[in-house]
Amino acid sequence: ATPTAVTVGVGRGAREGVLFKNAGALEATASVDTVVFDKTGTLTEGKPAVTDVVQVPGASKDDLLRLAASADSPSQHPLAEAIVAGARARGLEIPKPDAFDSVPGQGVIATVIGQRVLIGNVKLMSREGVDVAAMIGAAQSLAGDGKTAVYVAADGQALGVIAVADTVRETARQGVRALHHAGVRTVMLTGDNARTAAAVARDLGIDTVIADVLPEDKAREIKKLQGTGRTVAMVGDGVNDAPALAQANVGIAIGTGTDVAVETADVILVRNDPAAVARAVVLARRVESKIR
Ligand code: ADP
Ligand code: MG
Repeated sequence: ATPTAVTVGVGRGAREGVLFKNAGALEATASVDTVVFDKTGTLTEGKPAVTDVVQVPGASKDDLLRLAASADSPSQHPLAEAIVAGARARGLEIPKPDAFDSVPGQGVIATVIGQRVLIGNVKLMSREGVDVAAMIGAAQSLAGDGKTAVYVAADGQALGVIAVADTVRETARQGVRALHHAGVRTVMLTGDNARTAAAVARDLGIDTVIADVLPEDKAREIKKLQGTGRTVAMVGDGVNDAPALAQANVGIAIGTGTDVAVETADVILVRNDPAAVARAVVLARRVESKIR
């Protein structure tokens, strides 16, 4: 593209809430054929709330939620914040844990009033030798509704499942439709489980789901897509997303995302609006076609 066309394009992008960091970012965006979205905080509002508490026979919902909230209280994870808020909303006292350790992409391990409490996914439970057989049916049915079900265990015994759900952004649905209209394939990349991810992807019309991905493996999944000949834009918001944003042909950060994501990205979306991704691609293509 001529330098003038690029400058005009960058300026128009800015007015539409799409900040291209430089001319190269705009050029790369024009050739994108696949857009990969992080799920939590990008396609969804990122403000999940507790929807269900299912306890094993003999356990109490309040005890389950209190233990979970206490264990998760030092965590900054959106799921943890939802569980703490859910416990507070029920008027529960949340004691500070005596020890706390987070396992990225799996959950947390904490000591709460002398008990070793685990909260997280099935990977964490099996790694710690907790039998969740009695809870799998409940967890899968919650996941089928697009909710994220996390297991809670104390001293090696499963106590139940807490389901957390996040509202899908209305603009995400429009954005996916607009990308498909422009001939761009859509992918959801998430650390969440396959069942939950598939339900959310179905709701949004997303083509492909890559689930159960550990934070450190997100970049490798992008590389795999590139290996099949795709030119990939990755849209994310979290610290965990930064390596994948860097690996993608175009890294796109949601403006309200973490500083690391915003610094790493090539393109920033000023508003929390996945639909702006489609506008960015269409604008970039228009600018690039002016050159030839
Ligand atoms: P995402 O890609 O959706 O941001 P993560 O990779 O952060 O997800 O986490 C993957 C899964 O690990 C979560 O769906 C949850 O089951 C579990 N997990 C991670 N952190 C926590 C936490 N603080 N409390 C409970 N569960 C957690
Ligand atoms: Mg995330």
